[in-house]
Parts: sequence; structure tokens; C-alpha cells
Amino acid sequence: MRILITGGAGFLGSYLCESLIRDGNEVTALDLAGPERVKDLLGHKKFTFIQGSVLDKKLLKEEVGKSDLIFHFAAIANPQTYVLKPLTTLEIDLRATLDILELAAAKSIKVVFASTSEIYGRNPNVPWKEDDERVLGSTKINRWCYATAKAAGEHYCYAYRQQKGLPFVIVRFFNVYGPREDDPGTGRVIPIFLKQFLTKEKISVHGDGKQTRSFAYIDDVTKGILAVSLSKKAEYMSFNIGSKRETTILELAQIMKKMGRFESEIAFIPHVEVFGESYEDIPRRVPNVDRIKEITGWKATTSLEEGLKITIDYYRKRPETIKV
Ligand code: UDP
Repeated sequence: MRILITGGAGFLGSYLCESLIRDGNEVTALDLAGPERVKDLLGHKKFTFIQGSVLDKKLLKEEVGKSDLIFHFAAIANPQTYVLKPLTTLEIDLRATLDILELAAAKSIKVVFASTSEIYGRNPNVPWKEDDERVLGSTKINRWCYATAKAAGEHYCYAYRQQKGLPFVIVRFFNVYGPREDDPGTGRVIPIFLKQFLTKEKISVHGDGKQTRSFAYIDDVTKGILAVSLSKKAEYMSFNIGSKRETTILELAQIMKKMGRFESEIAFIPHVEVFGESYEDIPRRVPNVDRIKEITGWKATTSLEEGLKITIDYYRKRPETIKV
């Protein structure tokens, strides 16, 4: 198959590129960032890397037109960026999605749409099933622009299917981590803590650290994405992809400290000091993963300890290598 992966040099996208190439497909990765995360694939005869924007309609049209399957994974997906750059977030996360769905629908090309657990917002009734309520905050709070853009993207998938016959699958991720995530010290919580541990700084736990997440290891998640993407039964559905294990952020810091035999102390910092007023945290986030298990047999199998060990070893050996 000829496969286009937008965001192909991103964290998830790069693992998809590797798996799909390994399985014999022709893969084009389109990404705003350079090819650092896919550098081992550069030169492979079935791999093409294009540094460009999903907002470039001409480029999109050419690349979509050549594809049998599209993974639309390009997005601004880290809280610091969507708080600081809400317009850029909406442009990339919503406008580009519409363009891709429109182009794909015109040729009936299947789109695997990368959505997010953020769309459930602060629904207190965890674990969340795919069709559960979404509880989001005010539109004045930038944090919700990401969730809103992704939820609108999902609505568009259903709408394009209903009126224009678009084949699609929606995948919603829950705190995926592993080697090649963000630059140390930036982005999501694990790379931020890792830089602090590696440089013996205090660990910046936001709030009281009792907020929870369910961390899913990248190799498990990649397998889950491929399982639903390639299944006919999974078409036109949305899937939570994540681990059922709920961990507080304070526990995460403690587990990382133990696994890496680190020495840093933990410091508690109010959210408002980090993000300003345009941020609200999500108190608990846990997926119900029955649907993906039932349709494909997939479930996460890597324990948090195991996955963190691999991740810590990776960042320890190459702390400054990933620049995105
Ligand atoms: N967090 C933290 N310290 C940090 C970075 C993040 O305590 O230095 C917390 C953050 O407030 C949130 C959780 O870790 O409660 C997960 O944050 P992340 O940015 O990884 O992603 P989110 O799940 O919020 O999208």
C-alpha cells in the first residue's frame, strides 16, 4: 500500500513509519519538523520524507492523491503550545484536518484520524468509554482549544462519511510515552521529569500531584493503531488506545525516581505559576479499552515500570539528541 502519514516525523508518526515500512508498504512522511525521528529510514527505497506543512493545500492535494491510506497525525498536541499559541493550534488541528478529509473523501481514501483523550475533558466518571460525555471548560480557557479542535475533527469524520462516503477510523490516545517523545525538559510530563532527574534539579509536580493519568508505552500503542487501522470491522468507529492502569503524577515521579535510581527531590508548583490563567487541569484520565479488545484483541502489555526503564535508558544515553 502507498501510505501518507502527516506528522510522520512526530513521536507516534515515526513509530508508524517504521512499522509500516517493515511490513513492506511505501510510506511518505509529511512533517513540519525535520526528519530526526525518522533518520534511520532516510534512504530506504520505500520511504519518502517531505518537510512541509499540512496547511500547504497544493502539497496536500498531491500527496493525498497518491495514497491508498492516510494517517492524519500532524497536530499541535502539547499543553504548553496550545496555551501559548491557540491560533496556530486551531489552524493545524482543525483547518488542516478539514482539508485532508475533504481531499480524501473526494477519492474515498481511508483516513485514520489521530484524536485524543482530551476530548473527554474533565468528565469525572472514569474509566471513559468511547461514547461517554465530554465535559470541557469555557472557550476563554485556551487549554480547551485542542480538545475542541479534535472533537470537531471527529464530527467531520462522521459527517464526511454520512454525506460523502469517507472511510475512516478514529484513534484516541491516552498519555503515550517512550523513547523519542519530546526534547528532554519540554512537552509532556515524562520528558520534563527526565531532564530534571538527569540534571539533578527538583521535580516539578504541578498542584498536589494527585491528578491521574494512564500512561501507555509507545510500542503497545503503535500495535493498537495498526490493529484498528487495518481492520475492516473497525471502520467508522472511534477507539480509546491506552493502558487501564491509573497513576497519580506524584506516583509517576516516585516510580521514575526508583527506576532510574535518581536523587532529585520533589517540589509542588501551583498550575497557575506554570501556565498562567488560561489552563485547567484534568483531575483523572483513564480509558475503558473494551472496544479495541473486542474488535481486534489488542491490549497494552508493557508495564509502566518496564516502559519507563527503557525510556530512562534512552534519554540517559542520548539526552540532547532529539531536537524538534
Ligand atoms: N505535569 C507536572 N509537572 C510537569 C509537567 C506536567 O506535574 O512538569 C502534570 C500536568 O499538570 C498534568 C500531567 O502532569 O496534570 C500530565 O501532563 P502532560 O503535559 O504530560 O499532558 P496532559 O495529560 O495534561 O495532556
